Amino acid sequence: MNADKRIRKVIIAGGGTAGWMAAAALAKLLGKNLDIRLVESEAIGTVGVGEATIPTLHIFHQLLGIDEREMMAATNATFKLGIAFENWKDTGEDYIHSFGYAGKDCWACNFSHFWVKGLQQGINYGIGEYTKEHLGSRLGRFAVSPRSERNHAYHFDAGLYAKYLRGLAEKHGVSRIEGKIEDVQLDPDTGYIKALKLDGGELLEGDLFIDCTGFRGLLIDRALHTGYEDWGHWLPCDRAVAVQTGKAAKPVPHTRSIAREAGWQWRIPLQSRTGNGLVFCSHYMEEEAAKQQLLENLEGEPLNDPRVIPFRTGTRRQHWNKNCIAMGLSSGFIEPLESTSIHLIQRSIIHLLTLFPSQGISRAEVDEFNRLVREETENVRDFVVLHYKLTDRKDSEFWRHCRGMEIPDSLARRMEIFEQSGRVYQNGVELFGETSWLQVMLGQGLMPKAYHPIVDMMSDEELARFLAGIRSQVRVTVDSWPDHMEFINHYCKAGIG
Ligand SMILES: Cc1cc2nc3c(=O)[nH]c(=O)nc-3n(C[C@H](O)[C@H](O)[C@H](O)COP(=O)(O)OP(=O)(O)OC[C@H]3O[C@@H](n4cnc5c(N)ncnc54)[C@H](O)[C@@H]3O)c2cc1C
Repeated sequence: MNADKRIRKVIIAGGGTAGWMAAAALAKLLGKNLDIRLVESEAIGTVGVGEATIPTLHIFHQLLGIDEREMMAATNATFKLGIAFENWKDTGEDYIHSFGYAGKDCWACNFSHFWVKGLQQGINYGIGEYTKEHLGSRLGRFAVSPRSERNHAYHFDAGLYAKYLRGLAEKHGVSRIEGKIEDVQLDPDTGYIKALKLDGGELLEGDLFIDCTGFRGLLIDRALHTGYEDWGHWLPCDRAVAVQTGKAAKPVPHTRSIAREAGWQWRIPLQSRTGNGLVFCSHYMEEEAAKQQLLENLEGEPLNDPRVIPFRTGTRRQHWNKNCIAMGLSSGFIEPLESTSIHLIQRSIIHLLTLFPSQGISRAEVDEFNRLVREETENVRDFVVLHYKLTDRKDSEFWRHCRGMEIPDSLARRMEIFEQSGRVYQNGVELFGETSWLQVMLGQGLMPKAYHPIVDMMSDEELARFLAGIRSQVRVTVDSWPDHMEFINHYCKAGIG
C-alpha cells in the first residue's frame, strides 16, 4: 500500500448521480485541503434513470445543507411514502411497503406480535392500518412540518438532480472537465492509477480516483480488473426498457411496482412527467415483446422511444481497490425494485468521508471500507430477493423459476425465524428495519405461526382497545393531511407549467 502518499488530488471519473453526489459531498465536507476534479462526457451521457429514492437521503441532504423545498422545486420532485406492489404475491393481490413505523413496539417484540394475536381474535385489519405512511400513501395524502419525523422520500428527475448537485459541488470548488477518458495509466511498480488520459490528449493525474463511470467501470474493472460477483441466480432480471409519459392527472405519493409475466413495471410520477419502465429477464422475454408490453400498459402517450438498458445484477469483488473507489453503477447493481442504488452511493460516500486516507492509503482502512459496503449491499440484496422468492404466482415460467430458486442462506434464515416466531431478524443496524421486512414478508404471504408470550400479558379487551387506539390515531393524523399535489403546490412547486 502507498502508506506514505498523502492524498491531495482527487479525480472523479463520471458525472451521473454518483459522480456529482461524491463531488458535492467531498467538496463541502473535506474540500478545503483537496483539489477535486470531475471529468464527464456529454457525448456519452448518463444512464438516465434512477428517479425513486428512500428516506435515508435526508441524512445526505442534511450533511450538505440542502433545502428540501429548493431541491424539490429544482428537480420536479414529488413525495414518496412507499412502494405499492401489485400482483407480486399473486395476480390481483396488492400490498404496500410504506416507510415509517407500524404501531407501537414494546421492549420484547415489535408491534406485529400484537397484530397477529389481534387477527387470531378476529380483529381483521391489515398491518397498514397501523402506519400513517401507509394510509397516506393509499389515500394520496401528504404533509410534513419542521417537527415531523422524516419518513418520506422523493421521486425526482435524475438529470436535474445531478445538475443541482453540480451547482453545489462547483460552489465548493470542484472543477469540471468535459472530455472522454481514453486510457487509464497505471504506475508500473504499484499498479496504482496514475492518470486518466482524455481524448484531447490531456492527462489528469491524481492521488485518489473515484470511479463513477457507470456500468462501464472504466477504472475499477477495465483498468484494475477487480472482478465482479454475479448474482443473476438470485436476481434473474437483466434488462430494463424505459419510457416517459406526460404528467399524471393526480401524482400518487408512492412508486408503483406492477409484477408482469417476466418481471415488473415501475411507474414514478414527477411534477412534470411520469417515468415508466419494465424490468425483465431476457431468458423469459424478448426485448421486442418487453417494449410492446410496456407500451401497452402506459397511462398516457409516450414522450420518447422506449430505450433498453441491459444490466447484470451483482457486486464488485472489492469496492475500493488500490487507489480507486467504485461508486454507483460501476460498483455493482442489485436492481431497482426497492430504489436502493442512490442510497448505496450515499453510504459509500459516508464511509469514504469517515475513513478518508488523508495521510496515505492503509490496508486496514481499505479492508474496513470493503467490509462495510459488502455487508450493506448483501442485506439489501436479501431484501430484494425476498420479493421474488416469496410469491404464489405460477402463471409463467419466470415466476415458477423464482418460486423454486435457491436463495442466500442469510435470507432463508430470516424467513424461517419469522415464520416460526414472528421475530424479524436484524443483522445489526440495517437499511431496511423491522417494519420494512414485516410489510414485505406479510405482503408476500408469509404469516408467522406464533407471537411473543408478552402479548398474552394483555387481556383480550385491552388488546382490542390498544389496537383500536392506534388505528384511530393513524386515521386522525392522515385525515388532517392535505392532498399530496395540493401540498406540493404550496410547498415546492417546480417552475414548470
Ligand atoms: C433501469 C434502472 C432503474 C433504476 N432506478 C433507480 C431508482 O429508482 N432509484 C435508485 O436509487 N437507483 C436507480 N437506479 C440506479 C441509478 O440509476 C444509478 O445508481 C444512478 O443513476 C447512478 O448512476 P452512475 O452515476 O453510477 O452512472 P451513470 O449515470 O451511467 O453515469 C456515468 C457517468 O460516467 C461518464 N462516463 C462514462 N464513460 C466515460 C468516459 N469514457 N469518459 C468520460 N466520462 C465517461 C458518463 O458521461 C456519465 O457522466 C436504476 C438503474 C437502472 C438501470
